[in-house]
Amino acid sequence: MCQVLEIMESVETPVGPIGSTEWMDEAACAGHSDLFFAPFAERPEARVRREAAARVICQECLVLSSCQEYARANRELGFWGGESESERADAGFPPTTPIIGRKRVAEQRARDAMANAS
Ligand code: SF4
Repeated sequence: MCQVLEIMESVETPVGPIGSTEWMDEAACAGHSDLFFAPFAERPEARVRREAAARVICQECLVLSSCQEYARANRELGFWGGESESERADAGFPPTTPIIGRKRVAEQRARDAMANAS
């Protein structure tokens, strides 16, 4: 295959998550995503309370180590495997999502909320 086609093919191939996701079937946090991901404009005190509640669920979870490994490998946002984003960053696995991406998500959520309110 010509080199240009090889490059184009590799660019068009979607990049999936790193590592298996089968462990997610046994996640103790199913149905509790509000505890594991920050809402828009969350205050620091609310984050501490939310993450403490998430940590309690993680401590009882059978797939904690697989989850933590996955989150670290994929540089996830949110609370995964008993770790907050900042704890993962301290361990050497900071989120790679650019801050502008997070800002756009927050702006879109605000627009959606405004649209739903009117
Ligand atoms: S370790 Fe925590 S975040 Fe990971 S699957 Fe279990 S409950 Fe969910």
